[in-house]
Amino acid sequence: MEPIDRRTFLAAGAATAASLGTASPAAAKADKSGAVFLSTWKWGVHANTRAAEVLDGGGSLLDAVEKGINVVEDDPNVMTVGYGGLPNAQGEVELDAGIMDGTTHRAGSICNLHKIKNPISVARLVMERTRHTTLAGEGALQFAIAMGFAPMQLLTPKSLEAWLKWRSTPDRKSFWIDGEHHDTIGMVAADGEGKVVAGCSTSGLAWKIPGRVADSPLVGCGYYADDAAGAASATGDGDVMTNYCTSAFIVQQMARGAHPQEACEECMRMMARSAPDIHTDMYCVIAINPRGEIGAASMNSKQPLQYAHWRGGSGTLETAAAFLG
Ligand code: ASP
Repeated sequence: MEPIDRRTFLAAGAATAASLGTASPAAAKADKSGAVFLSTWKWGVHANTRAAEVLDGGGSLLDAVEKGINVVEDDPNVMTVGYGGLPNAQGEVELDAGIMDGTTHRAGSICNLHKIKNPISVARLVMERTRHTTLAGEGALQFAIAMGFAPMQLLTPKSLEAWLKWRSTPDRKSFWIDGEHHDTIGMVAADGEGKVVAGCSTSGLAWKIPGRVADSPLVGCGYYADDAAGAASATGDGDVMTNYCTSAFIVQQMARGAHPQEACEECMRMMARSAPDIHTDMYCVIAINPRGEIGAASMNSKQPLQYAHWRGGSGTLETAAAFLG
């Protein structure tokens, strides 16, 4: 099937937009600055609202993205990110996150982090306090502790019960799960003054092989930002999406003049040439340019992308039209 054109996409997005009434005096003020936030999935609505508050309160765009993502990491009801995220095959919650500053072109990331509920904040400290870009596993945990983060149990009664149920199922799926348990918070933001930031945080696939790292914490894959072009983030089957460096690809398209929507569609087109199961698997992306223009796309309508869009003092939850229909 042919990809939809941009006008059709935008019309479809507008048709599915649902006002969530997140207007607030703080948000309205932040809007005067022209800031725009775009986040994946329904929990992105709360992340965006918090991000707008932080910016309005005098925080930087990096503060806004970090604190916005913290809201989702702290929520035990989001079982794919942070505290309460579903664990790996051994019952251990392993978190991944990354953040990139489009102004300095610096990124920080954390992989396989145990016992610390806010990996995006640890990732930011990797970026700002070290000469490294990525820390993983035990070293990441030790770094987080040295930075003052308190280790804690990240399993909740609900996620423990889900893991015990999975483990006692004789024909259980290994290393993959149904769509309900497989999501991420990705956020891209523009401050209206030329700066962009991208961030991403996830517990990854439930029941994954311990040590697995996919796209979310990898710079250029789960997130990428460059003030000269824009920012992008990805969600979906990260084991596949990693191989396409989706976020860097989208930002490069924008650098060549593409609208964020065209850049997202071009990414789906590029992936569709060789990615497996394009009609059933989840491959989704979001993008923003420094002017606050946005894009979002999912590969197919079986795995639609919901994204939260904040601008003008209020938020909406929208559904991206599928590239393949
Ligand atoms: N991309 C994430 C991962 O593969 C999961 C997701 O975004 O749904 O770990």
